[in-house]
Amino acid sequence: MERLQGIAVSPGVAIGEALVLDNEGFRIPRRFLPRDAVEEELDRLHKALESATSEVERNRDRVAAELGDEYAAIFSAHLQMMRDKRLHEEVEELIRTRHYSPEYAVSRSLRKYAKIFESLDGEYMAERANDIFDIEKRILRNLLGMRREELSQVTSPVLVLARNLTPSETANLNPQFVMGMVTEVGGPGSHTAIVAEGLGIPAVVGVGLFLTDVSGGDTVIIDGDQGQIILNPDEETLARYRHEVEEQRSLAAKLETLRELPAITTDGQVVQLLGNIEFPHEVTQCLERGADGIGLYRTEFLYLGREDDPSEDTHYEAYSGVAKAMGDKPVVVRTLDLGADKMRMLPNPEDERNPFLGLRSIRLALRNRDLFRTQLRAILRASVHGNIRLMFPLISTMLEFRQAKMVLADAMEDLEEAGVPFDRDIKVGMMVEVPSAVVMMDRFVEVADFFSIGTNDLVQYCLAVDRSNKDVANLYTAADPAVLRLIRDTVNAAKAADRPVSMCGQMCGNPMYTMLLLGLGLRSMSVTPAAVPEIKRVCRSVSIAQCEAIAQHVMTLENARDIKTYLRDELSGVFPELPV
Ligand code: PEP
Ligand code: MG
Repeated sequence: MERLQGIAVSPGVAIGEALVLDNEGFRIPRRFLPRDAVEEELDRLHKALESATSEVERNRDRVAAELGDEYAAIFSAHLQMMRDKRLHEEVEELIRTRHYSPEYAVSRSLRKYAKIFESLDGEYMAERANDIFDIEKRILRNLLGMRREELSQVTSPVLVLARNLTPSETANLNPQFVMGMVTEVGGPGSHTAIVAEGLGIPAVVGVGLFLTDVSGGDTVIIDGDQGQIILNPDEETLARYRHEVEEQRSLAAKLETLRELPAITTDGQVVQLLGNIEFPHEVTQCLERGADGIGLYRTEFLYLGREDDPSEDTHYEAYSGVAKAMGDKPVVVRTLDLGADKMRMLPNPEDERNPFLGLRSIRLALRNRDLFRTQLRAILRASVHGNIRLMFPLISTMLEFRQAKMVLADAMEDLEEAGVPFDRDIKVGMMVEVPSAVVMMDRFVEVADFFSIGTNDLVQYCLAVDRSNKDVANLYTAADPAVLRLIRDTVNAAKAADRPVSMCGQMCGNPMYTMLLLGLGLRSMSVTPAAVPEIKRVCRSVSIAQCEAIAQHVMTLENARDIKTYLRDELSGVFPELPV
């Protein structure tokens, strides 16, 4: 049994068989070979090593001819490692004596070396570890051919364990069979984490290197509450977690009963509880969980996982479908928020040194006017089918908001000329997720119809902490007093100008924060659909007076740790059984 600590990003416990994916999504097969297959598998290993070596030789020669020997040196270093006799012997030994599969033996040996390099200080050493991953990938590709596992086609219950998953790969996991997921990399605010939470499956990210310690088919427990994973658990641990799964089920059944009830505090304050969605089909979940509408539709997921840009009609179908399904309930459609960790492929660090500070979101939209206009036209066309509101992401200056509105005005004019119906009075709001927007709230209230606080980004820009980097995950917290002041100021500024304000960051889906947010004056929250019942239950069990007292005390505390401890205590005073 081995217990590993990562970052908890989606609650709950899952127990099941491991499906192990390497860096590129290759499925690493079971660890053990039948005894009589050893010679055949050694042969397969040698062939794969040979073809991987010739690939690198070809690359080296081409780069040497085009750019010179000094650039080809990196490939020579790879070749040296791939031809290393000791490495070959080590891998063969694992296949011969332990009956490991060649894939598993290669991964295990190379990652052992990579781990050593990673543990040494300095950029040079870290790059050597990356070289080893590169070599591993190349050999595995040759061993596995193009048998890339189609994750969406898994047909039996598994827990997915991977180096990394992109947000769109995560979105394609089928929650009917994928019972949980774990990644070696990734931080608490990454979109992969958010999508996993949206799927309602327990998830842990940022565990660090561990895939060499697990084999396809091993039993694994994912504890999404504590951020732990347990490989090959003993009977006692299994029994304890099975009991927890049972308790989880009965709590979920209890929460079911809240569906038709309003989110109203004990002193009569109605709270609007909305759902966050990435795909139109999630509307069903929102309705089933009793959400009052959609507070955030992350439309960029229409672009992810496909090669070409979606057409205006594809956009239109998606938005009008959601609007119709929600009837007169509000649907906040956020315009494309691509870039940073929401790329069509994994971001290439060479392309942008600081992707979260770069050409992402509304900046990308304003630079690609045709792309932007296509989406705006579709949203406008869909607006006649329901209660659609439009929201711009990552607004950091007034000029940006005005420019976005100008593109919108153009799109309206086009439609008007063409005689296409749309809602002329569509409400246009903005995300508050950059500190500059908070500072300028007194001006933004003059131009925006409504606001939604995006704590996922607000935390990273306020504290200068990359939301998807596991190495700074301890600093990434919405409980930091600086973040709380930004939230307080946003709510106050919006209220003073009589503008609706909501929150759609992950923070408000965490029951630990519900009383604090109510106490800070927030009356509308948009959460992952699975969290609606739990947040509703907190709202229905507390009074605003009680929440205000809590908020007042929190604002006197000076660090996130004390704030979290206090909030956990307060919540467990209300609900001893909620995992916090
Ligand atoms: C946020 O930043 O809080 C947010 C809701 O947007 P996203 O997570 O898509 O960046
Ligand atoms: Mg954001």
